[in-house]
Amino acid sequence: MHNLMQDMPLRVGRLIDHAARFHGKRPLTGRSIEGPIVTSTWAEQRIRALRVAKKLNADGLGRGDILGVMGWNTLRFLELWYGIPGCGAALHTLNPRLAPEQLVYIINHAGDRMLFVDLDLVPIIARIRDQLPAVRNVIVLTDAAHMPEGSDGMIAYEEWLAEADGDFDWVQGDEHDACGICYTSGTTGNPKGVVYTHRSNTLHALAVQSPDMLSLGAADTLMPVVPLFHANGWSTAFVGPLSGCALVLPGRDLTPAGVYEMLEMGVTITAAVPTVWLGLLSYLDAGDLRFSTLKRVAIGGSSCPRAVIERFQNHYGIHVLHAWGMTEMSPIGTICSFKPEVLALSAEERLDFQETVGHPPFSVDLRIVDEEGHDLPWDGVAQGRLLTKGDAVVRRYLKADTDATDADGWFDTGDMATMTESGYVRITDRSKDIIKSGGEWISSIALENAAIAHPEVAEAAAVAWSHPKWGERPVLCVVPRPGTTPDPESIRAALAEHFAKWQLPDDILFLEELPHTATGKISKLNLRKNLVASGYALGS
Ligand code: ADP
Repeated sequence: MHNLMQDMPLRVGRLIDHAARFHGKRPLTGRSIEGPIVTSTWAEQRIRALRVAKKLNADGLGRGDILGVMGWNTLRFLELWYGIPGCGAALHTLNPRLAPEQLVYIINHAGDRMLFVDLDLVPIIARIRDQLPAVRNVIVLTDAAHMPEGSDGMIAYEEWLAEADGDFDWVQGDEHDACGICYTSGTTGNPKGVVYTHRSNTLHALAVQSPDMLSLGAADTLMPVVPLFHANGWSTAFVGPLSGCALVLPGRDLTPAGVYEMLEMGVTITAAVPTVWLGLLSYLDAGDLRFSTLKRVAIGGSSCPRAVIERFQNHYGIHVLHAWGMTEMSPIGTICSFKPEVLALSAEERLDFQETVGHPPFSVDLRIVDEEGHDLPWDGVAQGRLLTKGDAVVRRYLKADTDATDADGWFDTGDMATMTESGYVRITDRSKDIIKSGGEWISSIALENAAIAHPEVAEAAAVAWSHPKWGERPVLCVVPRPGTTPDPESIRAALAEHFAKWQLPDDILFLEELPHTATGKISKLNLRKNLVASGYALGS
């Protein structure tokens, strides 16, 4: 009686097949790079993706090939998302905000054979084109009439695609085949390629869709503001068709006004990093605007300040899903949803829990360990390195010689965390950012979030500065809100409500802006470098 059930490889083409078959007319709406709003459906989108796959095979590309895509969230990107794996190849997402030398490195390291690029991003590729020997063609995601200047030698996507009809079947194969590739940002050393398989992407989407995670259904309209090129697009392009929901894709206009306009197209659930929402909330405040349809907002990528959660929930009636994850985890590791013991708490106490990143879905396992690798108790206090294991967690980076996990398969996330008895995870820091003062740890994230709650603080970053007696001491860098000049003592007083005296920053520095990484996070590495270059000394 062994193995009497059907056995079909978990390949991502099945996700869009399902959407086309059972939710075929659900609307997909996007802002095109040319400007106008364009519409499609799951059924139409599937045909477009099949045409992409057929044309790629006709061009001699398929199994074993890696094809790069540099584009914003549009319907064309969505058809490549399925068309490329559907031809047997792997889709390598390229972040246009990376420095040119990093792009050259990752395109050559992966060995991309073809590049698809949005028309506004052509100059980025044109500048490095002669350093990409393996790239056969560059295809610009537009029609012949909109080919931009500087695209000589490149091909207009619609003309290229016109040569293939949709009479095609997805290339079949093993569920462990490579499906997509995303490089980590490479803040330390060269970027590393994470290779998602068809199986890992499918299982991850099932996990992320579930009720305690995004809880996505066919009645939802999902808008990923998070770019598809960032960390596997947070799986949004897989959970969308899996659940049969409608989609809104915002294109390249990620200004608060642009995002708000698209959210008002019936969106019920959206996802992005905290900085996007900080900008949007100020915009809403200034214009006294409300949301008509939005119900849930997933926030992750860096720690979401309590003030943002409160504002969304108490003022706008929109529930916040605080999420944590990383490129290596496909990327979602945990989402904060309420277990019954949390639901039973007061609203204020529930907010305390929402500062944690919640608990993992089935398929993700977690541990916290001390420096020697011994398990730490889940008491909400003990803080250690957060390790993970799961069906959609990296085992080995692309072209690496050794596994990225320990001998038992645990991957060190590089984050420090505490866990409660019921498995709620609080990220206290990245292990390299934590501030070690006199043998005790100070969480830079906690300092930053407390500072952000000050009405005159727009952005804050706490960094460790070496100190002869204490080892390290915290220094808080603050960007004031436009038109304000905050008094450092008022910030210190606000922090003192949450921290012991020895945890308060030695200095509070006011800067016009903070350096950010290509994924929009504060780059503490560059911040420290800038401070050193400016001659900063502790207490000066
Ligand atoms: P990059 O380093 O390129 O930005 P990732 O998106 O993979 O790439 O970053 C993952 C890291 O982001 C995590 O290891 C963690 O440090 C941080 N992070 C993600 N979500 C959160 C969160 N909700 N709270 C705190 N840190 C977070």
